[in-house]
Amino acid sequence: MTDTIQEVQETSFATMPISDKVQRAVADQGWEVPTPIQALAMPGLLDGDDVVGLAQTGSGKTAAFAIPLIESLDGKPRGVQALVLVPTRELASQAATEISSLSKYNPVRPVVLCGGVGIGPQIKALKSRSTSVVVGTPGRILDHLQRGTLRLNGVRYLVLDEADRMLDMGFAPDVGRILSHTPDERQTALFSATMPGEIRGMVKRHMRSPRYLTVKSEAPTVDTVEQVYYRMDGRDKTRALRALIDAEKDPVAIVFRRTKHGATKLHRQLEREGYKAALLHGGKSQSQRTKTLEGFSRGRTSILVATNVASRGLDIPNVSHVVNYDLPEDTETYVHRIGRTARAGKEGVAVTLVGEAEVRDFEKIRRSLPVEVRQSKLPLSA
Ligand code: AMP
Repeated sequence: MTDTIQEVQETSFATMPISDKVQRAVADQGWEVPTPIQALAMPGLLDGDDVVGLAQTGSGKTAAFAIPLIESLDGKPRGVQALVLVPTRELASQAATEISSLSKYNPVRPVVLCGGVGIGPQIKALKSRSTSVVVGTPGRILDHLQRGTLRLNGVRYLVLDEADRMLDMGFAPDVGRILSHTPDERQTALFSATMPGEIRGMVKRHMRSPRYLTVKSEAPTVDTVEQVYYRMDGRDKTRALRALIDAEKDPVAIVFRRTKHGATKLHRQLEREGYKAALLHGGKSQSQRTKTLEGFSRGRTSILVATNVASRGLDIPNVSHVVNYDLPEDTETYVHRIGRTARAGKEGVAVTLVGEAEVRDFEKIRRSLPVEVRQSKLPLSA
């Protein structure tokens, strides 16, 4: 196992061995240069190597594995050739969308296999011999394997995305079982925001002499997100939130709550007061979640009240504010939440409402961050 930390070198998409069709699709996205993780991971992946990438959402890691995935397909209708495992439905649909848009001139049409939706249409899609790419969450994929509706013995390219999150969610045994259905002779890419010992174990068990790649600074959050916090009585938080929203011109905000119940209550309150708010939590069906996110992305609603289900991976441009109504559990969750704003080079503000009872916990998070989180005064009139 080579354990190298590499510096980012000057690269361009044009100098990589990428087909014209994919080059055109990349150009259509408006991407001019590869992101650091793309510059590091793609050459190895395009060359058929196993790669472990230390990369967070927002780093461009999806395309880093999606482009080599598209290039790895041989175009023959001979069953599933590539499998992408992700921890959540949202990430699955984002990865599938990215694969579709990057393969628009040689359409790949990935099949998404996630829980929370009917299994019938998935089974039907899998029957088609032209299904070459599957993207999904471990539970539902295992379900298909056990039903015999999915075969992975032709997989040559495998991606484990947000591997640390999959472990956190208890998917490690499922991932192991799924991988045992794939041939040993395959290429594997693993992406993770952190590299705990369990991930290294996973790499040892499932990968062949991978290249370890990390980029020096990939946190999109640090430079472009203005981070502030307000101390207050916990009971004043709703009032503070309203004051913050009202003080901005056309804000687009994601407001994080810790529990479904808390999110539901706040959403109801905001709606009652005439705000265009939407609600996202893990108890909603997949179609409801997709609809909610679509409405928010398109500007039909301007405030999304959400639990941590929205903290990772969601890529919605134009989010001007992330509000931690409830404190995040830890620094990692904080960083993921605030990474939902300041996407694609835009600016954003991350606001944390710190109740008196939360001061000590917030101090811990604040001290562990590489940047200053400024204390500020609320624009409170009420
Ligand atoms: P990801 O980390 O994969 O969730 O990607 C974050 C965002 O970066 C997505 O909106 C991508 O469309 C965008 N992106 C990916 N690669 C590039 C690139 N080379 N240049 C500009 N934006 C990119």
